[in-house]
Amino acid sequence: MSLGVTILGATGTIGVNTLNVIQQHRPRYRVLALTANTAVDKLYEQCLEWSPRYAVMVNADAAAQLRQRLQLSNPDIEVLSGVESLIQVASMDEVDIVMAAIVGGAGLLPTLAAARAGKKVLLANKESLVMSGQVFMDAVKQQNTRLLPIDSEHNAIFQCLHGQDKLAARKILLTASGGPFRTHPLEALAHVTPEQACAHPKWVMGRKISVDSATMMNKGLEVIEACWLFDTTPDHIEVLIHPQSIIHSLVEYIDGSVLAQLGNPDMRTPIAYGLAWPERIAAGVEPLDLKAIAQLDFSAADTDRFPCLRLAYEAMLAGGTTTTILNAANEIAVAAFLQARLKFTDIAKIIETTLANLSGRTASSLEIILEDDAKARDLAEEAIQRLYPSHSPLLRTA
Ligand code: NAD
Ligand code: MG
Repeated sequence: MSLGVTILGATGTIGVNTLNVIQQHRPRYRVLALTANTAVDKLYEQCLEWSPRYAVMVNADAAAQLRQRLQLSNPDIEVLSGVESLIQVASMDEVDIVMAAIVGGAGLLPTLAAARAGKKVLLANKESLVMSGQVFMDAVKQQNTRLLPIDSEHNAIFQCLHGQDKLAARKILLTASGGPFRTHPLEALAHVTPEQACAHPKWVMGRKISVDSATMMNKGLEVIEACWLFDTTPDHIEVLIHPQSIIHSLVEYIDGSVLAQLGNPDMRTPIAYGLAWPERIAAGVEPLDLKAIAQLDFSAADTDRFPCLRLAYEAMLAGGTTTTILNAANEIAVAAFLQARLKFTDIAKIIETTLANLSGRTASSLEIILEDDAKARDLAEEAIQRLYPSHSPLLRTA
């Protein structure tokens, strides 16, 4: 019998890679729902190829356009719109697997709905877990939901912990490529452009996570994500710079053993692992040629160069909604940087200011989380306005 799949964020990098893996195993999986925000052309193409039962565009105008275009070719596809519809296709009965691949806090409600409905959740959308930590993990526990990490590092850790007594693990070594600015002159960082920030040396990713990788906030979010997924604390997680991105992370045990997971940097590996778990299926990924790679390098992470990493560690230690605030301020700052309304080096400043202006509190309910998320977004936007009152922040594009 085939497994019903919903892909939240189908038109993004992870969504497209997921369809690529499913394409290689077509009878095994049935695509029931594909969702996107505004990318009508791309979702239309995907609908023609996959004939899902539902296509959701969050944006109502985009949904109307898609509906009109599908009316002639695929009238059986039901086109829906709005966040409620995302929740519907993430939790409906026929669905076995939900790929959570929306970017940012917009993914929280449907991803949580999938966890609450007891679906097998493939978690790429790390922001949802960073925002809602305990509430999300409580839902997973209550429903006995199978939560499989798709983030390559967490997928690696999951694989290295497999079948082991977690208590015997001493430390998680979370690898990071260091992004495009690992060796960039410090004084030039203020003038880097969105295009430079999005040109990741090893991974092809959406623009928001690419900027997060360039500031290393991505690694900070991943430290928080790892704490929740593996029930540990930040002091048991060490970030290790590894520019080749071949070792995706490591687990150190009390007996001195260190287990690592290696592979070419290709998201189809963790996606295939998540889809088929506990089995393995082919992913279409090139075999790893260590002789050609020849050398693997490691160094410590530099929190002077990358203050966002320090802010994330501090937020996790503070606990409660502090990580919600961190995530919200980061999303606003990154969006402003991508619109050339903020300098690259201002991203950390906006987050720090927002954290200073809003204290975290116990994250005891989803309502509290959403409230602090909204407040933090407003405060971050105000901090940007204060920094650049006239809305041309003198940005150079060279
Ligand atoms: P992307 O920008 O390429 O795609 C984002 C998807 O989310 C698109 O389908 C878009 O339509 C949808 N979307 C955007 N805003 C939305 C909104 N407001 N409401 C509903 N849908 C919305 O991003 P990506 O690179 O595929 O990353 C997706 C998630 O996976 C992120 O959380 C990212 O951190 C995580 N992730 C990505 C990678 C990677 O290699 N790309 C690796 C690890 C984790
Ligand atoms: Mg990652």
